[in-house]
Amino acid sequence: MTTLNVDLAERSYPIYIGSNIMFELAKYQPHIVAKQVMIVTNDTIAPIYLQGLIDTLSADYQVDSVILPDGESYKNLDTLNLIYTGLLEGKHNRTTTLIALGGGVVGDMTGYAAASYQRGVEFIQVPTTVLSQVDSSVGGKTGVNHSLGKNMIGAFHQPRAVIIDSDSLDTLPDREYSAGLAEVIKYGLICDNPFYQWLQGNMARLMARDKEAIHYAIEASCHNKAKVVAQDEREGGIRAILNLGHTFGHAIETEQGYGVWLHGEAVAAGTVMAATLSAAMGFISDDDVADVKLIHRQANLPILGPKAMKPERYLALMSVDKKVLDGRLRLVLLQAVGRAFVTSDAGLGEITQAIIDCQE
Ligand code: NAD
Ligand code: MG
Repeated sequence: MTTLNVDLAERSYPIYIGSNIMFELAKYQPHIVAKQVMIVTNDTIAPIYLQGLIDTLSADYQVDSVILPDGESYKNLDTLNLIYTGLLEGKHNRTTTLIALGGGVVGDMTGYAAASYQRGVEFIQVPTTVLSQVDSSVGGKTGVNHSLGKNMIGAFHQPRAVIIDSDSLDTLPDREYSAGLAEVIKYGLICDNPFYQWLQGNMARLMARDKEAIHYAIEASCHNKAKVVAQDEREGGIRAILNLGHTFGHAIETEQGYGVWLHGEAVAAGTVMAATLSAAMGFISDDDVADVKLIHRQANLPILGPKAMKPERYLALMSVDKKVLDGRLRLVLLQAVGRAFVTSDAGLGEITQAIIDCQE
């Protein structure tokens, strides 16, 4: 078991990473405020893990649960209301503690319910996908989608603890597993060259779901996310580097319709585009780009954008993306392998060429 700390003064919290820790009462006790607990999960995860968690906590607490429909399409205000209804029906007061049991969708919605229920209650993250374990459960961004935009309703609300049971990945489908690895690779590329080199040597182990390798990859990823978040909790500056590949990726996700490409798949292709552009601007070498492609292929992730999607379509969608400032396209690029930066210096021609280079 490893414990990391997210260093945010009075909002600091631990991240526990270990095998078979989901059902350890002692991991929860220091972080549950009073007697009431509300577990929020979905109808895919509930049959696998919910009863075990209820049994774990019932010894000490009044435990209720809400089971949401599974899917990004349910990450909205209507579904959020199911959580509030459950809390009110169970007479949960301001000292209740919410527990998010599931992937990023459950985590984001539970976090926002916690941020807003009775003007704010505490919550614990128990993430069960690679993506949520290495990314969404750490950092305090919570929220839901609006029909006019993804994650448009939300709040910053840090959890009291993050409990990462690496064994929960045993039941995760391969495609979701690979998609999460896109964010893992991202940490190496943006700020941790030694970790990137480790990934280059160990991707086969990760794909074989070697426990020790998974534990290390989660730990290194959370360490890097926690480090970036501690420097810039509300994304005024450096936190933006976490969006490497995301501006291109966001265009792909939007064009295809959410769910056709998984987020991590779009980020993978977007990262290859960002690396290609970085090389065209002289920051990294063509060999570096070839390595970036190779590692994504090894993780069974796409390295090309969707066949029929034209560069003009990318540009149109990227300019409405929130990463645009003052009419210039702000992009996260690689200054070196292991060092990302935000720049508005890329010309439209260069961006277009990078997209074309990454088309089928
Ligand atoms: P997800 O929550 O939809 O989970 C993916 C699928 O796997 C779902 O069908 C889920 O039910 C299933 N699942 C989860 N755990 C499982 C397990 N252990 N075994 C079997 N099936 C399991 O998707 P995700 O990729 O975890 O998260 C995506 C969401 O995270 C998006 O809504 C995105 O906006 C959000 N996100 C938030 C942040 C943040 O900082 N808050 C960062 C990145 C992404
Ligand atoms: Mg992401």
